[in-house]
Amino acid sequence: MRALILSDIHANLEALEAVLAAAPAHDVVWNLGDVVGYGANPNEVIEESRRLGSVFVRGNHDRACCGLGGVEEFNPVAQRAARWTECVLTEEHREWLRQLAAGPIMPDGPQVSCVHGSPIDEDEYIVTVRDAWPSLIETGRRLTFFGHTHVQGGFATNGDEWFRLTPHYSTRNEQEEFELPLRDGARYLLNPGSVGQPRDGDWRAAFAIYDDAQMLLTWYRVPYDLREAQERILQAGLPDRLAARLRDGR
Ligand code: ZN
Repeated sequence: MRALILSDIHANLEALEAVLAAAPAHDVVWNLGDVVGYGANPNEVIEESRRLGSVFVRGNHDRACCGLGGVEEFNPVAQRAARWTECVLTEEHREWLRQLAAGPIMPDGPQVSCVHGSPIDEDEYIVTVRDAWPSLIETGRRLTFFGHTHVQGGFATNGDEWFRLTPHYSTRNEQEEFELPLRDGARYLLNPGSVGQPRDGDWRAAFAIYDDAQMLLTWYRVPYDLREAQERILQAGLPDRLAARLRDGR
């Protein structure tokens, strides 16, 4: 079984299309949330995401953009984007967002879980090894896929030692991949990166493929039509900052 793992698409249709064009053959799609918020095409991205599969964890922006709360904790730019998104969403898409499940969800047996922030708190950011530690210890899952930080990579432990996992690439403008063999006896927290608003200094859209027969995770980066995505943000009247940050991957 091969799973295409997507997170933090953030209504960026150009990035999602580039990811789907680049993604190798897969059996299922696991979506770790923040389908909407920030970008200019929330309805189109929801439609495409639903067409791809049925495994979704809700993100904090999904919650805020359909009136389920949390918008008051956002910074002013994110608040404006959430209010704009809520206004342009169709009634059907707003309802669909409202019924999304909070993580963790287990799409493939008891050893694999999907969350937005962390297994302990859907809104928690796992940034450091220290952040990762309680999740890796307490949940007991072999593999946890998470998003929310918009940083591709992850954390692992074999019980004695703790590791930070970072994919390495050689360019900033071509399609590339980085393979991580998953070892027996180790536990992993794995972030596919953000499709639509990367914040790890690399502007390219991010995703991952998990292959359970080979026990292999492959991270990918793909260029997309950045100018078009930026233009749509500006035309929609969303804050300029949301267009500018896409170029910087910040
Ligand atoms: Zn996000």
